[in-house]
Amino acid sequence: MGHPAEHRLILRQEVLERLIANAPLADILTLIARGVEEERPALFASIQLRDPAGKHLRNGAAPSVPDFYTQAIDGIAIGEGVGSCGTAAARRERVVVADIASHPFWADFRELAARAGFAACWSEPICDSAGHLLGTFALYSRTSLEPDATDLELIQQAAQLAALAIEKSRAEEQLRLASSVFKSSSEAITVTDENNRIIAVNPAFTRVTGYTAQEVVGQDPKILASGRQGKSFYQTMWQALNESGQWQGEIWNRRKNGEMYAEWLSINAIRDESGKIIRRIAMFSDLTERKKAEEVIWQQTNYDQLTGLPNRRLFGDRLHQELRRAQREHRSLAVMFIDLDRFREVNEAHGHDIGDGLLVEAARRILSAVRETDTVSRFSGDEFIVALPLPPSTEPELVERVAQTVLQRIAEPFAIGSEHAFLSASIGIALYPSDATDVDSLMKCVDQALNAAKASGTNHYGWFMPELQAAARVRRQLIRDLRGALATGQLEVHFQPVVETATEQVTKAEALLRWRHPEHGMISPAQFIPLAEEVGVIVEIGDWVFREVVWQIKRWRAAGHAIQIAINKSPRQFVAGNSQQEWIDYMRELDVPPESLVIEITEGLLLDGRSEVTSKLLAFREAGVKIAIDDFGTGYSALSYLQKFSVDFLKIDRSFINDLTTDQKDRALADAIVVMAQKLGLKVIAEGVETQAQRDHLAEVGCDYIQGWYYGKAVPATEFEASFLKRG
Ligand code: C2E
Ligand code: MG
Ligand code: MG
Repeated sequence: MGHPAEHRLILRQEVLERLIANAPLADILTLIARGVEEERPALFASIQLRDPAGKHLRNGAAPSVPDFYTQAIDGIAIGEGVGSCGTAAARRERVVVADIASHPFWADFRELAARAGFAACWSEPICDSAGHLLGTFALYSRTSLEPDATDLELIQQAAQLAALAIEKSRAEEQLRLASSVFKSSSEAITVTDENNRIIAVNPAFTRVTGYTAQEVVGQDPKILASGRQGKSFYQTMWQALNESGQWQGEIWNRRKNGEMYAEWLSINAIRDESGKIIRRIAMFSDLTERKKAEEVIWQQTNYDQLTGLPNRRLFGDRLHQELRRAQREHRSLAVMFIDLDRFREVNEAHGHDIGDGLLVEAARRILSAVRETDTVSRFSGDEFIVALPLPPSTEPELVERVAQTVLQRIAEPFAIGSEHAFLSASIGIALYPSDATDVDSLMKCVDQALNAAKASGTNHYGWFMPELQAAARVRRQLIRDLRGALATGQLEVHFQPVVETATEQVTKAEALLRWRHPEHGMISPAQFIPLAEEVGVIVEIGDWVFREVVWQIKRWRAAGHAIQIAINKSPRQFVAGNSQQEWIDYMRELDVPPESLVIEITEGLLLDGRSEVTSKLLAFREAGVKIAIDDFGTGYSALSYLQKFSVDFLKIDRSFINDLTTDQKDRALADAIVVMAQKLGLKVIAEGVETQAQRDHLAEVGCDYIQGWYYGKAVPATEFEASFLKRG
């Protein structure tokens, strides 16, 4: 054995070599312990390590200490009076106990020490360069003993050597941890040096960009630039990087395969002690998927999925922009509101798939009728809206020409397989700035223009007129008044005679509602029934008309007049409420035969697919109530449905009768309806007969009944009785 100093040098050398070779910490600590024991063979070395929480000491290396002893002291607390080691660790200073048997620190461990034969214990704290506790280095002696100067030097040097080993192995662990984060991160990471050259990239970087580490190390990260952002973008980025060392944001880069992608990039700088930036770490994640999802959402919130046209929302935005531009450039702008006439009927007759197809085709035709600079939008179900920015000093005829073209295109037959469907449209037009100057008001104007166009018949276009606004005011007023009209006795039921053609006898009548308005005088049902339908009071009003009529039948029957009376029933009344049973019961109660009542419905109702509508209709039929189809020829005119529901009467609409004697086509149609209806076992009633000539022609073709001013207008019950019901 050589000189202690020489010996320690060799030990130190050996420890460093092991450290460089990355030997496990436990091996190195054992080496230190054994090295010390070789220098001082009478002593036993024990190294303990601070646990991560800093509360306890765990065994590090004690190759010559009996196992039962090391096991017993594994995990002792760091604290004052906990043996030599616990106390040394707590105080961060050496604790020398020369006689365990008498020392108070050893009170709890005396027996244990005796079993191992230990009489003295000197413990030196192991600390890192910053003075933080790493563990303890202890030497035990089997005799009571004070350390001499060489011993103290030995302990101190051994503790320093252990500190070195522990620190290095901890640092390595951190590195390993950092490197595994680097490798397994789902975010791509680039590390650049002070010259902004890439020095490392992780596997996620290769996944996102397609470049391997070899391909990019030594390069400037700008090889990823897409060119989508301009110089100023990068200038701002670098300014932030140089000032705060940080930047984050969205940036477009290009993959190795040329594809562009959006990434969320955050760059952080690492500085040396002098504050100079030595590394930059850039982390980014691919936003492409998220971008795609955002795009889909944007698409769905702004476009109609069926036709691909901008929806109401986007149209609102565009119109707003267009109005601002029109204002700036002193131009005008037209808004066109297009509504497909009776589309609901077509939709229900052919099914929604075909209906959808028709809408797509209608959209295409509208697009084909306007310029590319016009915005066509699907506003709702069968409504389209178009914004047409107009060149300066455009004549209104130009807008009318566009409207005319739209109407023409829509009127062309739509092919459904081998069949054809026919559609028509109504168009309302409003103008900026003459009608309104903001989006909301312009939309109100165009809506009123459309309503007016529809009221004047199908396949029409109409301009907004200020009078329309007044009409809208009156309308709102009427709706308010209508609610009270029934309660205040302003409504009356009048009766119009229906004459049997063959005998010229009045055997039937139609009950027609009249509203005697205190200010506006007599208001036509054609005007207020739609309002009543709209606000729902039609149900209440309809029930009242029914009861009035049933009472009237009862009275006239009592007076010996077996008359049959028809009442009109709106589709709305079939949907809301459950009146059919109440109506049937009411008639039974008053002992009025169900056959003396006819319910007039429109064709559209038969096409209504809803089962509650058909079941209500069938309930009336079963009870014996008669059914008539009103205004036949103006709607969808599906004769097969008439048979399916075994309808009793068909009322040919007044519009065919009007020109019966002058228009060849109308006559042919009316004649055909009479013949067809009779083939199907229906009785035909001609409405709106005003002249002898019309009556004669209808009598000739065999029309069963005639109703019209030729025989008489609708009049109050007493007048009806006096004029048309003779005794006997
Ligand atoms: P509608 O059921 O087709 O009634 C026939 C309409 O033609 C009545 O108009 C009648 O007065 C009119 N008219 C009859 N003969 C002639 C004629 O020779 N020449 C002309 N130019 N017109 C004639 P009115 O009374 O104005 O009723 C309009 C519509 O209002 C009715 O059409 C019906 O659909 C509806 N309506 C009337 N009363 C009621 C009711 O109590 N309930 C419901 N839901 N609707 C009703
Ligand atoms: Mg009618
Ligand atoms: Mg009618």
